[in-house]
Amino acid sequence: MTDTLQQRLPEEHCCVCDALTGRAGRADDSLYLETQTGEELGPLCEDCHNSFRRDDLTDALVAKDVEIAGLGRRLDAALLVNEEWLSRKWVGMVARIEELEASNAE
Ligand SMILES: [Zn+2]
Repeated sequence: MTDTLQQRLPEEHCCVCDALTGRAGRADDSLYLETQTGEELGPLCEDCHNSFRRDDLTDALVAKDVEIAGLGRRLDAALLVNEEWLSRKWVGMVARIEELEASNAE
């Protein structure tokens, strides 16, 4: 590729490491990988493309699923702990709004 042509092409960055991919979009053979869930990961530089084999992606997705499930359980627990506080807060807010509405109506 000549310097002149390279300058005309948009720069494409790897979605994982942000390095320049040396390519310029799908028309220029950008590197994408398909995940187990059928989503596309990309564009990728050649290094990342080579390092993210399908097995690695599966492992990463399973790890993410576990992490998300854990976060969900923590969120549920936090919500239970805070439920009473939240409902008190809510009642207070409603009361305050009613006060303001009443004072506006005067
Ligand atoms: Zn990369």
